[in-house]
Amino acid sequence: MTDTAATAATTSMGQEMYELIEELYPIRRSLTGDGVRETIRRVARRVPFETHEVATGTSVYDWVVPNEWNLRDAWIADLEGNRIVDLQESPLHVVGYSMPIRTRISAAELRRHAFTLPEHPDRIPYRTSYYGEMWGFCLSEKQLHALSQDEYDICIDASFEPGHLTYAEFHIAGETNEEILLSANICHPAQCNDGLSGLALVAMLASRLRLRTLRYSYRFLLSPGTLGPLSWLAANERRASRIRHGLVATCVGDRGAMTYKKSRQGAAEIDRAVANVLATSGEEHEVRPFVPWGGDERQFCSPGFDLPIGVLMRSPPGEFPEYHSSADDLRCVSAAKLEDSLQKYMAVIDVLEGNATYLNQSPKGEPQLGRRGLYRVVSGGSAGNTAIDEQALLWVLNLSDGTNSLLDVAERSGLAFARIRKAASQLVEHRLLEDAPGVTG
Ligand code: ZN
Repeated sequence: MTDTAATAATTSMGQEMYELIEELYPIRRSLTGDGVRETIRRVARRVPFETHEVATGTSVYDWVVPNEWNLRDAWIADLEGNRIVDLQESPLHVVGYSMPIRTRISAAELRRHAFTLPEHPDRIPYRTSYYGEMWGFCLSEKQLHALSQDEYDICIDASFEPGHLTYAEFHIAGETNEEILLSANICHPAQCNDGLSGLALVAMLASRLRLRTLRYSYRFLLSPGTLGPLSWLAANERRASRIRHGLVATCVGDRGAMTYKKSRQGAAEIDRAVANVLATSGEEHEVRPFVPWGGDERQFCSPGFDLPIGVLMRSPPGEFPEYHSSADDLRCVSAAKLEDSLQKYMAVIDVLEGNATYLNQSPKGEPQLGRRGLYRVVSGGSAGNTAIDEQALLWVLNLSDGTNSLLDVAERSGLAFARIRKAASQLVEHRLLEDAPGVTG
């Protein structure tokens, strides 16, 4: 599909996701604090996510939940009181988790606490310092050069005290209690692609899937990076063992091609499902092996859990020029790309939901498909026959010996899983296939 065609095909779901990102963009988020709570409140207006609070000082495996940080105001002003840098202009202006400070300092000292992106003089970097006691301002290179006086008044009005870390989850009960986990971060301020796009996609999936009858149960997790998944895992170790498949959603709104980072297991059903969806999309894409750095997959795929969870994204974090800067704004994401990513996620879920193993009930020779209306008539063109996909029917019949799942059939045939699933359903209807006894997936 060309970009223009993709834009034209933008449906209301992509637009709805974009509008949620737009609404959440100005909220000041961090690892903890009221910005995270406000973000969850807004999402919960659409899908009733439940908020969980984990107290400061709680041990989560090798980590401890830190003090809660709330930022009220911050500025750098000249001695006449003119604000050179003002938090009201951008939530990125203060290094996340900065200690509070209000003082008059020399320009030289201020420069030691200033972070810029020299290669992009107009952009403000996004920086955090969760685990070291420091303070700092993030500003554009241009703002830094404008600091021509000897002294400045600075203020970071922040509270840093015992409180909570906040995360949210939403659960849909399916026919089985085996779960599919969908996870995204809610800690990044003013980052549309790296952060809000994943959140919007997970919220949209939750809102759509709750309308469907599902085989799997689904768990949607919105949490601050690293400590969020760790807190959830620590509180839900038993439940975690029910997770059969999962995806971490991040960077799903930019113009880049789809990229999949495999789970640590590497050949889990989720890895194969995503690979089939991307390979049969006819679009440019990349499948990468697991590496132990990145986002929340680091916790889910740690050896003590080793969950089959991969990352389905567009441009990976750190690999698009706007990453972790003020340029990752609303222009970095589009309704069309959000919609496209969502459709890929839906297609993966359809694979997981629809995968099954069957037994051909007429395995000696080919069953006569024409007699059953499952073979195209010579002249073609009749409306009923346009739904017949002979290739897919023949693949399913041939490989359904009780050992191959439909995903195996899709892989071996190179056909899209949706075609294989549809053919299998038609064959089941005509009693040419039955569930293979004692086999699932
Ligand atoms: Zn990030």
